[in-house]
Amino acid sequence: MFEIFKIGFMSFTFLDLLDIAMVSFIIYKIHSIIKGTIAAQIFLGLIVVLFFSFIAQAGNLKALGWLLKLLTDIWVIAFIILFQPEIRRFLLLLGKQPFGSKFFKRDETEDEVADILTTAAFEMSQHQHGALIVLERTIGIKSFIDTGERINSEVSVNLLRSIFFPRSPLHDGAVIMKNNIILAARCTLPLSNSTKFDKLPLGMRHRAGLGMTEQADVICLIVSEETGSISIAEDGKLYRGLSRDSVRKYLTRRIESKQHKGLKGIFELFNKSK
Ligand code: ATP
Ligand code: MG
Repeated sequence: MFEIFKIGFMSFTFLDLLDIAMVSFIIYKIHSIIKGTIAAQIFLGLIVVLFFSFIAQAGNLKALGWLLKLLTDIWVIAFIILFQPEIRRFLLLLGKQPFGSKFFKRDETEDEVADILTTAAFEMSQHQHGALIVLERTIGIKSFIDTGERINSEVSVNLLRSIFFPRSPLHDGAVIMKNNIILAARCTLPLSNSTKFDKLPLGMRHRAGLGMTEQADVICLIVSEETGSISIAEDGKLYRGLSRDSVRKYLTRRIESKQHKGLKGIFELFNKSK
């Protein structure tokens, strides 16, 4: 059917061309999603084994074929175990991406969380109560949550204010949140080594907030105890002295955008967290 050319007994049809094009496209897509990550190296290994296994099959080398098939199976299982959280997120995203967020349920909690955080930050700033809030996004930061005390409660302005009230037993360290839930308080974060700090009147709270964003996909909201100024850190950058409006806008935009960042982000982040 739709024969394109023929060499001896082998004929090459339009269907074969389509077949090869589709397989190439899928491999290319997977490669571009995981490029530069640990997943890419494992994937490359799998492709090499698959290639030899194809040769063995074509050459009818039964024992070698069997061995390579075994290797492929183990490889696939290892890949699934190693990337179990990423694969789960990947499948969730596949189900969610095309319409989910836009047409069916634009997540109202995202806006609500941004409102609550902005209000709390400005109230704390007015009273010059220091605060450090980490917003977890695609990838969990359990090791840092474990340094604090579990809260697991829905966020509210008053809950945040109570936690960061200077004489509260929980006020020291950072609060870590995911969506609208406060996961933990009193968490210890990694300090940034950035030399940008040297000339600025910023201490440990800001260093810790920035440091966290250098190591994981999070946004940090920081209220200065000394000056009452509000800063946001993301991707190793610190934005200082923000107005109420810009804090709110920033949070609304960023909480949302990273949640729908797409497939590439999943593996990028996995790489970062290793
Ligand atoms: P401020 O403007 O509020 O004074 P700052 O950046 O100058 O902020 P410090 O005065 O050093 O920071 O604030 C110390 C507070 O920062 C501590 O009480 C603690 O709550 C918090 N902090 C310090 N180190 C860490 C850390 N590694 N992880 C989380 N929080 C920390
Ligand atoms: Mg200080």
